[in-house]
Amino acid sequence: MSERRASCKPDFPILIADDNDLQRNVLEYVLRKEGHEVAVARDGRQAIELFTSGYFPIVITDWMMPHMTGLELCRAIRESHQDQFTYVILHSSRDGRDDVQTAMQAGIDEYLIKPVAPEKLSLRLATAHRVLKLEQALKRKLEEARQLATTDSLTRLYNRVFLDERLPLEVKRAIRYDRPLSIIFSDIDHFKTINDSYGHQAGDEVLKNFARRMKENVRDEVDWLARYGGEEFVLILPETDIDGAMIVANRLQRVVAGTPISVDNREIGVTASFGAASFSPRSDIDAATMAMELLGRADRCLYAAKEGGRNRCEGERLN
Ligand code: GH3
Ligand code: MG
Ligand code: MG
Repeated sequence: MSERRASCKPDFPILIADDNDLQRNVLEYVLRKEGHEVAVARDGRQAIELFTSGYFPIVITDWMMPHMTGLELCRAIRESHQDQFTYVILHSSRDGRDDVQTAMQAGIDEYLIKPVAPEKLSLRLATAHRVLKLEQALKRKLEEARQLATTDSLTRLYNRVFLDERLPLEVKRAIRYDRPLSIIFSDIDHFKTINDSYGHQAGDEVLKNFARRMKENVRDEVDWLARYGGEEFVLILPETDIDGAMIVANRLQRVVAGTPISVDNREIGVTASFGAASFSPRSDIDAATMAMELLGRADRCLYAAKEGGRNRCEGERLN
């Protein structure tokens, strides 16, 4: 028993709602003695106030209370659409078969008839912990899967999926806060020749190194990079107008061309071309359309940089 009790003490704070002082105090005492973090409410209304302002994955509630019953509290919890599951235990003296059914239909997870023995309560809490642990593990897995799905495996930058999803949101934010936004398209020059001369694996190393250098030379936590495909990359620069974007593009171009990339004791000279596009928000612009427009315009500027002799930058401001 002591092992099980010890295993059900992780950080799942419990909210107790009961208008009966004695029963509430006893429950609080028992739970605190077992090491649980506990908050108490004297009625359903106070309970929902506490619930919405804190983190309570476990709620133990009485049924009949002033202002708001336990079942109403449970419905309110279910409708609050919090991003975590709440395990609701009804602790009531009502023990009719219809009562249990009514409570379960209201969304209760467990029904305990008063007075509940501490051992029994402990067992039910262990079940709650298993459910909540499972939810946490699933959420972690989902987050890992989301990261995998949005990360380029070679360079560890964001991938095209993430770019397509996030760029319209960046545009939307720029419009909402009336801030400029720039993007820079970059493409390694004559990359096919690098592959042909040094091999595909060396080419991969060049891509990784190129991505790292780009990342090291932009604002941490503000600017973000995505691998668009092959040896093409997109850099997103929030709060940056075309002049700022051109400064960044020129700096990156010099950084890349300035130092050869060392792969297996061979120094590989690399240059890249850059195309920048910026926009200043207008409220009549549709975010998704503007995102496409920005990418298209930056791509055209990149093409102009290639046509202009490579290892250079071109930029343009929309409207
Ligand atoms: P330009 O200066 O006009 O950009 O010429 P380029 O040779 O860089 O452009 P091109 O588009 O003709 O060639 C890109 C090459 O990139 C062809 C493709 O095999 C190679 N590539 C694409 N993805 C990868 C990758 O993940 N690893 C390696 N090593 N090569 C890749
Ligand atoms: Mg290229
Ligand atoms: Mg290319």
